[in-house]
Amino acid sequence: MDAWGDPHRSAPLASRILVLNSGSSSVKYQLLDMRDSTRLAVGLVERIGEETSRLKHTPLTGGESREQIAPIADHDAALKAVAEELAQDGLGLDSPELAAIGHRVVHGGMHFTDPIVIDDAVLAEIKRLIPVAPLHNPANLTGIRTAMALRPDLPQVAVFDTAFHTTMPESAARYAIDVKTADEHRIRRYGFHGTSHAYVSRETAKLLGKAPEDVNVIVLHLGNGASASAVQGGRCVDTSMGLTPLEGLVMGTRSGDMDPAVIFHLMRVGGMSTDEIDTLLNKKSGLIGLCGDNDMREIRRRIDEGDEQARLAFDIYIHRLKKYIGAYYAVLGRVDAIAFTAGVGENAAPVREAAIAGLEGLGLAVDSDLNAVRGDESRLISPRSARVAVAVVPTDEELEIATQTYALVGKSDD
Ligand code: ADP
Repeated sequence: MDAWGDPHRSAPLASRILVLNSGSSSVKYQLLDMRDSTRLAVGLVERIGEETSRLKHTPLTGGESREQIAPIADHDAALKAVAEELAQDGLGLDSPELAAIGHRVVHGGMHFTDPIVIDDAVLAEIKRLIPVAPLHNPANLTGIRTAMALRPDLPQVAVFDTAFHTTMPESAARYAIDVKTADEHRIRRYGFHGTSHAYVSRETAKLLGKAPEDVNVIVLHLGNGASASAVQGGRCVDTSMGLTPLEGLVMGTRSGDMDPAVIFHLMRVGGMSTDEIDTLLNKKSGLIGLCGDNDMREIRRRIDEGDEQARLAFDIYIHRLKKYIGAYYAVLGRVDAIAFTAGVGENAAPVREAAIAGLEGLGLAVDSDLNAVRGDESRLISPRSARVAVAVVPTDEELEIATQTYALVGKSDD
């Protein structure tokens, strides 16, 4: 039983969790009070290592946002600057009320199925996974090491993007390639955005007034990166991202699914190098490759002005989305809800409408009035009579990381 889940057990004294999401040149952070899951402060350090590093800090306990542009040499300096900002608001990292620091770690491989308190063995395993997550895990490790140096006495918890997907059966997780080669290089489908898929699938069950175990949900996480998952009774059984976050849906700048032979063709016929193709598929493809814009607001504006290129990019995006809805419907057999989340999923009504259009045969429909309503709350957008609920469920990865971190620290107090 979680520390706060049992009304007869008093919550641990320290109730604040700092959530850190460390990128290669940025650190996003939130400080939460887990007694009532409220945010005390949020902020972002960008362009670490450049002359024009930017720190934006917003206290949520009162007071204005503060912004500074000045060189911040490395992650160590960034975290110290964050600590100073928090201290100014009386929320310093030396406070006894800080229970733990929760770190987002992108790749946990097959080893980490749950969040874990970080020790030397955990650090070594995250490092061992660098070959399958070369962009993310090194930055995550730097963030962890910096935070550990700052507060060596405090539990530091790793929450993995891949963990929620480790329940996928082998039939969904394996690629149909030579098993020996796959195993030797740890090639399989890991999936990402797991923290969001876990949170949103649970919130969707809540919206339906049911327990997660009783609900089958297709979650469509549509941000700049985008992924779909099939969640059966609270467990992920399939997801669209694979060995890396390149597979699956059309994304802001990533191609998603494609015949792998395109790569050989580009090498042999196009004379491109591995790095050039990597950049092409990860940074210059998807919506930006198709029409020059990756922001769905801009694409919709261009479509409204009659821009054919933007229209085609949108249609390709929707076509792929529909294919995944159909595929996961078949994987799940019975679907209780489809949940749209993240920047595009939460805000772009035309995307939701187009993705569901024509799927009446599957019991799916969108009520255009409900779909047009804007808001921060989870809500249904399907007609009352619909067999399958269609919902907009805002994701909250930081809250989920804080919740999982606090649960673990509370348990280790027992
Ligand atoms: P990520 O975390 O992957 O960077 P987000 O989940 O924040 O991305 O989503 C960012 C994307 O959401 C933007 O690129 C844009 O396409 C889309 N978006 C944000 N707000 C809106 C809006 N009001 N209407 C349509 N699309 C939006």
